[in-house]
Formats: sequence, C-alpha cells, structure tokens
Amino acid sequence: MTELGRKQLLINGEWRDATGGRTMPVINPATEAVIAEVASATPEDVDAAVAAARAAFNGPWGKMSARERGRLIWKLGERIMERVDEIARLETLHNGKPITESRHVEIPAAAECFQYFAGWADKIHGETVPVKGPQLVYTRREPLGVVAAIVPWNFPLLLASWKVAPALATGNTVILKPASQTPLTAIALGELAVDVGFPPGVINIITGSGATVGQAIVEHPGIDKVAFTGDTSTGKGIMRSAADTLKHITLELGGKSPNIVFADADLDAALRGATVGIFYGKGEVCAAGSRLLVDRAIKDEFIDKLAARTKKMVAGDPLDPKTRLGAIASKSQLERVLKYVDIAKSEGGVLVAGGHRTDIGTGKGYFMQPTVFADVTPDMTIAREEIFGPVLATIEFADVEEAIARANDSVYGLAAAVWTRDVKKAHYVASKLQAGTVWINTYNVYDTAAAFGGYKQSGFGREMSVHALDYYTQVKTVWVDLS
Ligand code: NAD
Repeated sequence: MTELGRKQLLINGEWRDATGGRTMPVINPATEAVIAEVASATPEDVDAAVAAARAAFNGPWGKMSARERGRLIWKLGERIMERVDEIARLETLHNGKPITESRHVEIPAAAECFQYFAGWADKIHGETVPVKGPQLVYTRREPLGVVAAIVPWNFPLLLASWKVAPALATGNTVILKPASQTPLTAIALGELAVDVGFPPGVINIITGSGATVGQAIVEHPGIDKVAFTGDTSTGKGIMRSAADTLKHITLELGGKSPNIVFADADLDAALRGATVGIFYGKGEVCAAGSRLLVDRAIKDEFIDKLAARTKKMVAGDPLDPKTRLGAIASKSQLERVLKYVDIAKSEGGVLVAGGHRTDIGTGKGYFMQPTVFADVTPDMTIAREEIFGPVLATIEFADVEEAIARANDSVYGLAAAVWTRDVKKAHYVASKLQAGTVWINTYNVYDTAAAFGGYKQSGFGREMSVHALDYYTQVKTVWVDLS
C-alpha cells in the first residue's frame, strides 16, 4: 500500500474506479517513491462524465439561482483554506515544489480565486440595445454548457481553479483533467466539492493520460469548451482536434519571458527580481523570466553578483519550510533540462553557476542546481526554446530600442518585465513589449483581479479578472416586436 492509497474518479458525485480498473502511479519527485495509485480513465469514463455534466447543466445546476451558485463556490474556497495545510502538502508531494510556495502562495491563491469568482456569479448582466424601429432588443449572457479544464503539472490546483471557478460562476458544469504526474490536489478539490454540496455532475474529476483521456475530451462532441494550459505543441494539437466539433477553446501555453534590466535600475531589487523570476517554482513556471536582458553598461558586474547569489541557493527537502528550491517535477523533466544545459554549452553559452544534477543527501530525488548562462546570443537554442526549469539565459543589449527588439524576438509573448528608475522609459518599453503581462520593477506577481494570458504563441484567452467571464459565456440577442 502506498502512503496515500488508491484514488478514484469523481463522476456524477460518486467515486468510482476507471472502466477496466487500470491505475497509474503518482511519484514524489523528491524521493522517487510511489505515493499513490490513481485511476487511469478511459474514453468510456469521459462519456460518463460528459453525460453527468450535461444532466447537471440541464437539471439542478441550471435551475439553481446565480446567488445560490455563488454561495457554493464561495464555500468551496472556504473549505480549501480550512484544509490548506493538507492540500499544500499534497501539492508539494506530487510536484516537488517547496512547501512555503504551496502553503503560503499557491493554495491560498486557489481559494481566493474561487471566492473572487463566487462574487461574480450574480453580477453577470445582459444589456438593452438601442436599435432602429419599434423593437426591444436585449442580450443575455448564457453559459456555454459543459466545460473541460485540462491542466499541467506545474501549478496543479491553482491553474485548475483559474478555469473551474469562472466556469462555475457563469453557470457551466465542469470536467477537470489534471496532469498525470500531479492528480492529487484535483482529487482533493473533488472531495471538497462533494462535501460542500455541489449537485452531482457539476464537478467531475477524471484522471488519466493526456494521449487517452485528454484526447477523448478534446474530440468529444458533448463538450462545449476546452480550457487548456500546457505546452505550446500540445495546445496546437488541441486546436486542430477541437476544430472537428468547433469547440470553444482557450489556450494558455508556453513562454520565454524577457526580464529587462537597464543600467539606471535599482540593481539590488533587479537582482532579487531576476532570481525570483527564474527560480520560483524551480523555473517550471510558464511566465518564468528565463531570458535576462542586461544593459551592456552594467552587464559584467550584474552577472557576477547574480552568479554569486545563485551559487548560494541550494536545493532542499520540499517539505522543509526553509527550502526555497525543491525537486524538478519528474525524471523526464530533469533529463530535458539537463539536455538544454548541454546544448547551451555546445553552442557557446558560458556557464557561470550550477549546471548539474544535485542531491540533498538522500541519494534520491530529481534535484537540479540553479543555473545561469552568460554570453548567450539571441540565436542560441536556450534563448529561443522554453526549458521549463531553473536555467537562466543572460543576453546583453546596447540601448532601449535593442532591448525592445531582443525582448520581442520570440514566438512567445506571455510575460515580460522591465527594471528602471526612469518612469518614461518604463512605460514606453511596457507599451512596446509583445506580452500579455508586463511587470515594472517587480516580477511574478499575480492577483485574481488582474487578467493573465498570452500574446503570439503563448496562446489566447484571458484567465482571472472580469475578462475571464467572457470566455465562459456566450451572448444571446433577443428581439421583441413592439409595433
Ligand atoms: P502538457 O501539454 O504536456 O500537458 C498539459 C495537460 O495536457 C496535461 O493534463 C496532459 O495530460 C494533457 N495532454 C497531453 N496531451 C494531450 C492531448 N493530446 N490532448 C489533450 N490533452 C493532452 O504540458 P505540461 O508539460 O504538463 O506543462 C508544461 C507546459 O505548460 C509548459 O509549456 C508551460 O509553459 C505551460 N504552462 C502555461 C501556463 C500559462 O498560463 N500560459 C501556465 C503553466 C504552464
């Protein structure tokens, strides 16, 4: 028996095994131990979840008042906080992230997301439209129906909440598919939903592989929308597959976000920002500041300090509250990150910190040293491809226009940051950056009230904020003849 036992699928308010009874292991990346077995769902299970979600949409959920829906969603947020220690521990166990990050940042942010959208539930208005002729024209904002949320392994519960909360607040029912590496907190969310009293079928949790279950979801004619966060190449495949049933989709994809440091910045703050930008979440962050663009005038001094600071960061037991750098989420991800280190060296990048696998004295776990490369040029692979690990590429620039050009020289456009004391320059650069989020003199700050999403191949649609509501509703125009 594993530490956390065997977990089932949540379909129509009931916990059940996958059809055929297959399971898959969940591994703790810090110890390499199997900590749970979860159901490995089949396309038949997806059919059952869709039928349950549709019945709930047409039945009790659709008939419930918006205010009552809001109350349930609020309670779900409350329950998450009541069990925050336990859920944060699960998040750390299956992902390897430091407990400080899950306990004090991400799980509270997920709870807050439910409470933010709970407040919107009864405030979604239509409008009256001033048309010509004796006609009354009004609009209704209606839910889409059955929404599937497919999420990755880096922020398992938080990224699920960014989708599930607005979907529920606008009156949809939900099928949540977590990443196969990190299903435990989605299952915990399902337990809380049952506990809080959501009608059966409103929230269904389907665990399984992307290739089988994810694909079955994307192709399913009974699903109205897929809200996806994950790799850009997976997102492109989802867009192609969703075309056959013309589903609504929103895609939050990868990034290669530029973090621009001008010589006139508060350099100590910029140094902290550069570190937080790439090493929070072990760099497994879609918005990680993985390209540090540094003003040539200060480059040598800045990179020396950055290397010294990076060398002081050591990986530790993710469950230890003092740990700031946890384990890479999986063996294959560690191998991928190390491969990029080799490529960077072979292309002429100069390694100034880290670069190797490490361990925390247990001889187990997928730990990696925080890594910084100097003298990276914009054409090198590590300046162009998303690594999704604690590896920073530093690139120099000569002036403002070159900084902007280099920042925008990417297929991605998720986030960017600029560090300067010059207010004019800061806003000018912010206006020119092709990114869905721009931070000025800070990095990696988020709030449920502030929209998040990509430009270019980082995807489309916006999560969090009032803007998310648009992506879970459709507008119906009603004409009334008054002649
Ligand atoms: P992934 O694309 O491999 O998997 C994401 C999810 O999609 C998982 O649940 C997976 O099982 C599922 N999936 C895989 N193949 C599928 C298919 N054919 N059909 C349907 N579903 C399928 O991504 P990942 O490795 O889990 O996550 C890392 C990626 O996520 C990175 O590229 C990162 O930048 C991105 N990300 C983006 C954001 C954002 O908001 N833009 C946030 C976090 C992560």
